[in-house]
Amino acid sequence: MLERAGQIVLHPLERRQEALRQQLVKRLDRLDERVERALVQAQQNAALFSGSRGPRAARTSTRGSVLPRVASALPDPAVPAASPDISGETTTLTACACCGSPEFTQVSEFNRFLTTAQAPDACASRYDYSLCHRCGVVFARIRPVGARFRTLLDRFEDTLGRPAKQGTGLDLLGSRRLTPDEAARIREAAGRGVFASANGPGGPPGLPAVLRDRLAVSAHVEILSSLLTLSAPRVLELRPRFGAIGAAIRRLFGGETYALPLFEVQQLIVREVYGTRADALLDYDQFTIPYEGSFDLVVANHMVTHAVQPAAMLAAIRERLAPGGHLYIYNEPDEADFLETGKSMFKTLNPFHLQTFDLPSLTRALQAAGFRAVFSTHHAGNCVVLAEVAEPGVEPLGAKARARRLARYAAARDRAILMLPDTLRGHFRDEWEPLIARAFEAGLLALDDKGALRLSRRG
Ligand SMILES: [Zn+2]
Repeated sequence: MLERAGQIVLHPLERRQEALRQQLVKRLDRLDERVERALVQAQQNAALFSGSRGPRAARTSTRGSVLPRVASALPDPAVPAASPDISGETTTLTACACCGSPEFTQVSEFNRFLTTAQAPDACASRYDYSLCHRCGVVFARIRPVGARFRTLLDRFEDTLGRPAKQGTGLDLLGSRRLTPDEAARIREAAGRGVFASANGPGGPPGLPAVLRDRLAVSAHVEILSSLLTLSAPRVLELRPRFGAIGAAIRRLFGGETYALPLFEVQQLIVREVYGTRADALLDYDQFTIPYEGSFDLVVANHMVTHAVQPAAMLAAIRERLAPGGHLYIYNEPDEADFLETGKSMFKTLNPFHLQTFDLPSLTRALQAAGFRAVFSTHHAGNCVVLAEVAEPGVEPLGAKARARRLARYAAARDRAILMLPDTLRGHFRDEWEPLIARAFEAGLLALDDKGALRLSRRG
């Protein structure tokens, strides 16, 4: 009896003791791991700052130029001269460009202008990209507007850091205005049709770039014609490359097609090759739809990435969708393009990239604007979403996902800084030494066989 009573008292005590013992073992294991990691890191840091070869460095191959260990060794950064003919109009946002949330975290200061010689002035490279805590879109807090945006667009190729095409061939995607002679040549080639070579060899060349585009966008025609039931739809194409998607929809379902191309040469091709109405050019800054009536389908190429006022643009589209109408968004680069590939984030985000995101963040931005995704996927690494009108409302980005993305952005920014040429690293003098230490720890940097610090191939 007494024994049994003792068991009743002791049993829970024993269990409690065993639980405590297990907890203690776990904690000791964790402590062990931490001590182990700290030791490895201390060895590496010692190697880093003594200039000798570290235990790991001997096995890591390196690339790029030698990186200085101390900030004082960085030369003053090259600063672009100001061009007098660009206006200083910029806006600094205090809330997310897509969902309006005032809560965000800055992830990177710079766009591609930092790395090119074509920046129109010293402030052109500064966008202060910030990650919205609600929808998750990364948006340029500082953005060019008005005449300044117009000038950047007029200098499209320079702004992209891409030289305008040279030689006699016409750049069908370029911003350049056409001479009457060039326009006549395009009309003549367009008259022979996109599949001109099917007429047999010997004829003058048609427009091979237009055929290439037609084949390239056929995936979108496949998606749209499989998922939508359309009957003589009114279709609006925003920034079509040449208008092949709208034309295909018209061929399959009848109806009318309208377009807002970006440049004059595309406007001419959209009209001449596909017979699509293209009365006006697209305005990324003050987006409007200069056609009457509502649309059953709006097909938007690369629009959310570039819109100066994405929320207003999406609202304008939503307002003009017919009941049961759809918005199709394609060619929107996924942030994985620089977070996962090892590419420089500074170089990837050209000055027209005012928003960047992953597919869930794009979907949330659409929710904020009153759209529900009915189909979304990636095609050729880009985000694709087919959406219909819904009540606005965002399921916010979770805290874990936010922390994960912020960490990946921080790592991508470190990598982009380290990939800069010597002449530009001075921009980051104030944070250079801690940056070097954490990049070394993360394996982005390694010591070469002479003990000099370089980018590691693995990183
Ligand atoms: Zn947002």
